[in-house]
Amino acid sequence: MSARIGIGGAAPPPPPITHRVSSTTTTTTTTMALSTTTTTTTLTRHRSLRFNSLNKTHHNKSSSSSSSSSTLSVKAFDSSSSSSSSSSYPPATSTSSSPVGYKGVENLVIIGSGPAGYTAAIYAARANLKPVVFEGYQIGGVPGGQLMTTTEVENFPGFPDGITGPDLMDRMRRQAERWGAELFQEDVEFIDVKTSPFTIKSSDREIKCHAVIVATGATAKRLRLPREDEFWSRGISACAICDGASPLFKGQVLAVVGGGDTATEEALYLTKYARHVHLLVRRDQLRASKAMQDRVVNNPNVTVHFNTEAVDVVSNSKDQMSGILIRNLNTGEESVLDVKGLFYGIGHTPNSQLLEGQIELDESGYILVKEGTAKTSIEGVFSAGDVQDREWRQAVTAAGSGCIAALSVERYLTSNNLLVEFHQPKTEEVKKEPTDRDVHQGFDITLTKHKGQYALRKLYHESPRLICVLYTSPTCGPCRTLKPILTKVIDEYDQNVHFVEIDIEEDQEVAEAAGIMGTPCVQFFKNKEMLRTVPGVKMKKEYREFIEGNK
Ligand SMILES: Cc1cc2nc3c(=O)[nH]c(=O)nc-3n(C[C@H](O)[C@H](O)[C@H](O)COP(=O)(O)OP(=O)(O)OC[C@H]3O[C@@H](n4cnc5c(N)ncnc54)[C@H](O)[C@@H]3O)c2cc1C
Repeated sequence: MSARIGIGGAAPPPPPITHRVSSTTTTTTTTMALSTTTTTTTLTRHRSLRFNSLNKTHHNKSSSSSSSSSTLSVKAFDSSSSSSSSSSYPPATSTSSSPVGYKGVENLVIIGSGPAGYTAAIYAARANLKPVVFEGYQIGGVPGGQLMTTTEVENFPGFPDGITGPDLMDRMRRQAERWGAELFQEDVEFIDVKTSPFTIKSSDREIKCHAVIVATGATAKRLRLPREDEFWSRGISACAICDGASPLFKGQVLAVVGGGDTATEEALYLTKYARHVHLLVRRDQLRASKAMQDRVVNNPNVTVHFNTEAVDVVSNSKDQMSGILIRNLNTGEESVLDVKGLFYGIGHTPNSQLLEGQIELDESGYILVKEGTAKTSIEGVFSAGDVQDREWRQAVTAAGSGCIAALSVERYLTSNNLLVEFHQPKTEEVKKEPTDRDVHQGFDITLTKHKGQYALRKLYHESPRLICVLYTSPTCGPCRTLKPILTKVIDEYDQNVHFVEIDIEEDQEVAEAAGIMGTPCVQFFKNKEMLRTVPGVKMKKEYREFIEGNK
């Protein structure tokens, strides 16, 4: 069913609306999307035999990477000349647009795009393995991994002033790409490592490979409260950083569940926006680091409730979340805590489900690796990061284990005479997504992409096209994931659709009028009707199908 919503104010006549935005909020800043160009590298593939010359070739490779032709000291052959000498598998070819059913065999598939996956990709790409990286999409977390849901990372070496999690992951991604890793924002849905070469399937492609690095990290746990699904994204969230700034939570009393670093970080972060934060801790003490404990206990805007668990969500007559039922675990007494939001900070589960029954896991699902290595119970399958680390679980330890895994793969492929080398022979110009700096120009309805509430109001009143609105917030990692995905889909429907990005912190009133409860969130409008709201990050095809059906 379609709903009508008001984005009125800048251009007459005002539409019939249910949520009206005050005309006094209109800004005079208008924005316009421009296109810029940049260079990127494409790869060609050479089959090469390497005879214990790895250290030497590493050195040479690093200095050759940016040139337009390879200066590797190893002998390189074209694929036709080498297919017989390298392995008994089918001859290898590039997979840049590999459809399902593709028959070639890749050197290496890396599953996961957290610090472990990207570091493995950087090392493997620099070793000319041209790794194929499945960055993930939804199943095991967003591309970029857990750090996409945090603000400042203060302990990653090399950043004396700290760096935000999304910025750090952006840099790792670009570094992997620069060295020739092939990245796909897709979830792996099936793995077969029982037969060699291994098979990896995503929704869009199937790839055979000689080696796999599983770096699928860990996923936030849920409490499974009776009404959890009903209030998920309508009051319950597992990401304070993503959702804390949304109108639903701003200025409200909120609760966080958990007693570790995640929960304490979330509680402290939420004090930036909330009136007060209650931290519900099942045990009689916090598990968080001493530094975090001190910060929480000394913050007057946080109340810690020990020996307390959340039982369920309580709602008001408008079916909005109005509180949570909590239980004192010492006395069994139940009471209602008046809060408008509940955030989960109760830890993570290793994303190893795809490998159950194929490689050895521990009782909690962590992948077992031989101590001090990345080797799993199956030869050719390596693992890195939080999915195999129940103890340290840090960005830098994940990155370190990604490095070990990639170097191990290189050794494994070389010693089994399976290695196929890729070189970076040429660069070509490609279109780059417009940056914020590019868009500070006048509004022009003939352009497809826009930014800010002025553009939205104009388009709402004047555009005959389907309008796709992306609501983001500056600290939201998943927003950065969604933007390029959506941009690609919008490009496919260029003259049939308008796209507007709204920063909910800058354009709070519009977000409020649109009923936005968290970011990222996409809304579609046409003929002054709001047709659909799509919260979170979804597969490309979901946006594509909707646009196709409504353009
Ligand atoms: C709120 C928060 C704050 C943190 N702050 C810090 C900090 O300040 N410093 C620090 O060192 N550490 C911090 N950490 C811990 C750190 O984020 C993790 O240790 C680190 O991200 C683990 O990296 P990883 O590569 O193993 O996995 P993750 O970061 O979990 O990434 C896993 C990746 O695998 C992908 N994936 C999963 N399943 C699939 C599939 N089926 N197909 C394809 N891809 C898949 C996911 O999409 C994701 O990209 C923090 C964690 C959290 C939650």
